[in-house]
Amino acid sequence: MSQPRILFVILDAFPFDRVSSSTTPTLWALAEEGGWSEKGGQSVLSASTYPNHASFVTGVGPEQHGVLASRAPVVGEWRPAREVPLAARTLFEDCRVANLRSVGLFGDQNLVQVCGALKADAHWPPQGQLPDSCARGLLGYGADQAVVEAATSMELKTADLVVVQLDEVDTVRHLRGPDAPESREQCTATDAALGELLEPLRSQWAETLVIVVSDHDMERVEPGAIDLNAEALARGLSVHVEHDGTACWVVGETTEEALLRLPSVEGVRWMSDRHWVVWGRPGQQYGTDFGLAGQHGSPRTARQLAVVGGGHSLARTLGSWIRRETPMGTAWAPTIRRCLGVVGQGA
Ligand SMILES: [Zn+2]
Repeated sequence: MSQPRILFVILDAFPFDRVSSSTTPTLWALAEEGGWSEKGGQSVLSASTYPNHASFVTGVGPEQHGVLASRAPVVGEWRPAREVPLAARTLFEDCRVANLRSVGLFGDQNLVQVCGALKADAHWPPQGQLPDSCARGLLGYGADQAVVEAATSMELKTADLVVVQLDEVDTVRHLRGPDAPESREQCTATDAALGELLEPLRSQWAETLVIVVSDHDMERVEPGAIDLNAEALARGLSVHVEHDGTACWVVGETTEEALLRLPSVEGVRWMSDRHWVVWGRPGQQYGTDFGLAGQHGSPRTARQLAVVGGGHSLARTLGSWIRRETPMGTAWAPTIRRCLGVVGQGA
C-alpha cells in the first residue's frame, strides 16, 4: 500500500453530531468515503483548545505534554499555553526526522507555538503572528477564509502531512451560544471552507487521506463566574486553581472529598499525582465572566467530531475503526505515525 498524503483538519468546537448531507455536504461526502463516529470521539481534559491540540500533535495527555489548560506552569509560574514548551515529540518533528514534508496552518495564531509548528517545513501565520491585513473573526483569531487563502501558497500537494485548524465555529458558538441559528450557519460556512481547502487536492485524491476532528464541544453558560481559587484559599486548601471555562485544573495537596466540598463543584477527576480537574453543574463558569453565551472545559463538552475520508484505501480502514470504537483525542498522532510509517517518541 502506498503512503498517503494526510490532511489532519481540526474544526474548532465543531459539534460532533452536526454532519448531514444538506448542512455539511463536505463532511458528509468524506464520511461516505471513509466513516464518521456518530457518538463522537473523546477529548482530553480540560476540554479546551490548547491541551487538545497539543494532544492531537503529540499523542499524549496534558500531564505528559505539559499544556494542562489554557495556561500551564513554566518553571512554577502559570503562563499562556503558547509560552509552554511541549514536553513530548510532535508529528512535525517526526516528519522532519523521517524526511517527510509537513505544513501547519492555524486560524488561532497561538496554535503555531502550542502545536510546535515552528518545526514544520512551512507554517502559517508566520511565527504565530497574524498579518495586519488578515481577516479576523470577532474574537481576534484568523478567519476561516484567511486560512484557506494562506493554504493556496503553501504547496499542500507536495506535503506528506498537513495540519490545519479552522477557528470560526468556536468563535460563533462562544458568542451566540452552542445551538444558536448563527452557530448552525457557521458550521455550514466552515464546511464550505473545508471543501475549498480540499479542492486543489482532488487531482491526487487516490493518494489523499483526510482526517477531520474537533477539539471539544460547547455548552451554554449563565452570567456570573465563580473564583474557585479564592474559595479554595478561604478554606485553607494549599492548591493552585486554574480556571478554564466550565472546568478548573487544580494542582496541590488535597483530596477528592475536599474538592467536592468547594462551593459549586459537582465533579472531580484525578489526572495524575497532585493534579485534578473539577467542574460544576451545567451553566456554571469559572474565573471571569467574559459575557460569552457558550463555554467549554467540563467533561460535558468533551465529545469530538471524528470523520475520515479521502481516496486512499486507508480511509475505509480508519472509517470502520471510528464507527466501531470511540476515537480518543490522543489516538490520532499514533494513527498518523503508523499511516506515514514514521516512529514517534517512545515507540
Ligand atoms: Zn477549541
